[in-house]
Amino acid sequence: MKGLQYDRKLQLRHDLPLPVRHPEEALIKVLMAGICQTDIEITKGYMNFQGIPGHEFVGVVEAADSGSLIGKRVVGEINCACRACDNCTAGRYNHCTKRSVLGIAGRHGAFAEYLTLPERNLHLIPDAIPDEEAVFVEPLAACYRILEQVPVAKDSRVLVLGDGRMGLLCAQVMKTARADVTVLGKHEKKLSLLKGPGINTTMIGEALRGIFDIVVDCTGSPDGLSTALSYTRPQGILFIKSTVAAQRSIDFNDIVINEIQIRGSRCGPFAPAIQALQKKEVVVAPLISGIYPLDQAVEAFHAAAQKENIKILLQM
Ligand SMILES: [Zn+2]
Ligand SMILES: [Zn+2]
Repeated sequence: MKGLQYDRKLQLRHDLPLPVRHPEEALIKVLMAGICQTDIEITKGYMNFQGIPGHEFVGVVEAADSGSLIGKRVVGEINCACRACDNCTAGRYNHCTKRSVLGIAGRHGAFAEYLTLPERNLHLIPDAIPDEEAVFVEPLAACYRILEQVPVAKDSRVLVLGDGRMGLLCAQVMKTARADVTVLGKHEKKLSLLKGPGINTTMIGEALRGIFDIVVDCTGSPDGLSTALSYTRPQGILFIKSTVAAQRSIDFNDIVINEIQIRGSRCGPFAPAIQALQKKEVVVAPLISGIYPLDQAVEAFHAAAQKENIKILLQM
């Protein structure tokens, strides 16, 4: 099959073997996939991953043990758990000690014509959600993870730091919790995409220091963390959403003195993400900067790394 392979460099290949479908797994024909910051970090050495990257996708099930899935349009949770280790037994499947992760660790990903995933990872996509919006379910679910981790009270002051892919999604999700959301970014054009949903946007942070109940670092940059800390109020919560290949540093004294809670936050629930797209509570279409055919996957990667672009999609 055709696919994009990363082996210290990105290369479009036409001779990749079809992924092997194990019991209780589905073979999925990928329709569309999204390039995210994690994919870009992988090309900088993050996770030491080699193989086919890509974890944000929508596809059609071609083969599965459960016949009812065949022919259905699906998205998939990316963590494949062993269901037997201590974390799995405790219900922390996304933290399975032996997990493989689609396109990130130990499992080929979505930037190819086919992928496999356990059937239990799959979620059906309603007809009302087009492919180019369905590929946003995975990153959107990651934003809903925050609402699983802490109760976000109505009118609580939330700052989303960063106006990239993740920031623009996170801001909208925090708004669904009726929080008072501000996005601090660097690009007027990107921030203007949020004008509709009633979210405050700004490019000047000076007056905002130390006032937010919750700060979500979506900068994807190594120094975003210390900036985010400066905006968090005493006893506030700072969420770290981005994984970066580079090492980050932070002044721990500020955390102690201001009694800040720092929370890591990764993969989240798919059901509310699908529902939000269906009900149009979250708008993703304006975030699409370009759709490239799989044949131009390398060019698409370069486009995804350009600051002026938001979301770049691949069509298989
Ligand atoms: Zn991602
Ligand atoms: Zn496990």
